[in-house]
Order: sequence, then C-alpha cells, then structure tokens
Amino acid sequence: MSHELKPCPFCGSTYVRHARSYIECMNNHCMAFGPNGSTPQQKFEAWNRRVSSASIAGEHRTAEYWKAKHRARKTEIERLRKRITVAQANAREAHEVLQLVAVQVGGLLACMAHGVQISPTAFDEARDAVRRASELAANMADESRHG
Ligand SMILES: [Zn+2]
Repeated sequence: MSHELKPCPFCGSTYVRHARSYIECMNNHCMAFGPNGSTPQQKFEAWNRRVSSASIAGEHRTAEYWKAKHRARKTEIERLRKRITVAQANAREAHEVLQLVAVQVGGLLACMAHGVQISPTAFDEARDAVRRASELAANMADESRHG
C-alpha cells in the first residue's frame, strides 16, 4: 500500500501532510487533523478511509465558503456572548434572592427555636422571598433549556 494521502475530507485541500504523530490539513481555515494510528501506515489508511466516506472529498472550497463559515462562527460567538450576559445577570439576582431567603427564613427559624411568636409581617416577607427564589429557579431552568 502506498503512502499517498487523499485530499482533506473536510475542505478538499490537497495540502495535507504527515506531521509527527498525525495527519494534518494545512489549510489554515480548516486545520483538520487525525485520525490516530500506532504506525504511519495505519494513520495513512485511516485518513484515506475518512476521505472516501466523506461526500465532499476532492472538492475545493471557495473563499466565499470560508467567509460564510467565518460569519456563521461570529454569529455563534455573539449568541454565546448574549447567553453569558443573561447568565451573569441571573447569577447576580440569584445571589440577591439567596441572601434574602437566608435572612427572612433564618429569622423565622430563630423565632421558632426560641419560642418567640412569629409576626405576620415576618411570615409574609419570608414567604415572598421563597416565592421569588422559586420563580427565579424556574426561569433559570427555562433559559437553560431554550437559550
Ligand atoms: Zn482541510
């Protein structure tokens, strides 16, 4: 079997080489590498098998293709940035609500522990804090499912 490498299965570049421990695509926009094999022969064979199973084998991608791919990545990064901003705001609110619950419910527990009568106001405030915590938990679960 020859050691000739087929073009990159992902971008079609014929500029592929055998680096120290793997086969790599030298197209800077692609940078596909692998697969692993214990001998160079195995690596060559694995690379060439992957090429023949990929439908785009042998096609050269145009500059337009790479620009579109780059734009898609930028859009994805923007989307992730927005999610991070939302997550940070949630974390701040969660911190605030946790503190509120700790103070309000802690107050109720202290009253109960010392046999002090709980005022209706203290009870209402604790109930509201717990309600806020439940709503926040539900919203955060929603966002992590749909975000
Ligand atoms: Zn490639």
